[in-house]
Amino acid sequence: MLSGSIRGRWYLVTRIGQGGFGEIYIAHDHQTDRSVAIKFEKRRIEKVTLKFEIEVLNQLQSSSFFPNFICSGCSKDFNYLVMDLHGPNLSSVRRHHRKRCFSITTTIKIGIEMISAIKEIHKIGYIHRDIKPSNFVLHHDTTIKKLISKKKKKNDKSPTICLLDFGLARKYLDNEGNLLQSRGNVGFRGTARYASLNSHLGTDLSRRDDIWSLLYLLIECIKGELPWSRVKDRQLIFELKKKFNSLSLVKGLPRQFTKFYEYVKKLKFQDSIDYSYLIMLLKKIIKEGDYEKDSYTDWGKS
Ligand code: ADP
Repeated sequence: MLSGSIRGRWYLVTRIGQGGFGEIYIAHDHQTDRSVAIKFEKRRIEKVTLKFEIEVLNQLQSSSFFPNFICSGCSKDFNYLVMDLHGPNLSSVRRHHRKRCFSITTTIKIGIEMISAIKEIHKIGYIHRDIKPSNFVLHHDTTIKKLISKKKKKNDKSPTICLLDFGLARKYLDNEGNLLQSRGNVGFRGTARYASLNSHLGTDLSRRDDIWSLLYLLIECIKGELPWSRVKDRQLIFELKKKFNSLSLVKGLPRQFTKFYEYVKKLKFQDSIDYSYLIMLLKKIIKEGDYEKDSYTDWGKS
């Protein structure tokens, strides 16, 4: 556990996350009197991913679906990234729910934003390769809104969620904007529960694989689990994913999920994504299910 301050400006308060190569802390910014998030990466590790992550985050600064970059630097033992502090991640929000799942309204609302966030990262030429609930956090405006929901401004356009962690992101376009060819077999990438079958097969990933992970995530949000949620072994998860690689995966969900699944299944390595089509499918669920007037999400008025 780290303690003290960074550059005498950011005082570490508490650790909120721990990954394979680093840790995330809440810190108090004495200059602005605000809280921030700081991601640390040990300097001794051979693979330096934070520098790359900062590069990607910097290219996403015009979009509100990503944390604001504040500053980066290095100390004797660590590289660090200081960014805006957002709310809890969606994995912990869901697990704290009595039913361990979100309502259809909540899932569709965040699903539409997730598609938009993925579109933004694809737009700058990267695939994320680790789309999962713990990489989406509630936007700080959302958590504030929850507390002051009655005073919410009418035309508030700030998103509900924010996408993090570009440590596994990868370029799929070259500098001229041309598609990079598949590198063939490159090994597993991502997180077992949400990784696409292509990732289990070890093949190079592309834009379609971010959408596969998103589909698994949305199913889990509504149902509270995936057929392989209780399994830890990656090979067993792979077997279950193959077994459920049919309409049985979306059984019991609104019929638009059948179309969502059929669309993703047809995507090839080089294919671009029809984000508007996917958003339209999700919006239709809200309309047809007469959820339209229901502006409540699982964390308050949206
Ligand atoms: P790692 O790459 O080590 O897994 P992440 O960037 O995924 O680290 O962050 C791990 C967790 O820390 C996230 O799931 C989230 O809960 C929390 N976190 C990271 N950045 C922020 C942030 N800017 N605001 C709020 N929470 C954050």
